[in-house]
Amino acid sequence: MLRCPFCGWPDDEPVTTVSVHPTPSGVTMWTRCACGSLQTRVLRGATAVVTARSRPVAKATTA
Ligand SMILES: [Zn+2]
Repeated sequence: MLRCPFCGWPDDEPVTTVSVHPTPSGVTMWTRCACGSLQTRVLRGATAVVTARSRPVAKATTA
């Protein structure tokens, strides 16, 4: 099972589903991890494959 490389959260258990977009090639899901990392998932049958993920959201930004 894959896990978030930033916080170790199991990819099988998305914390927050941001949005779901049906496309001709399948369903694309955007989810947010416990650490704030935004993930792009593509549903292939019953399995959601994480195809891309952002870095965790920084609590404070530096200018
Ligand atoms: Zn995470």
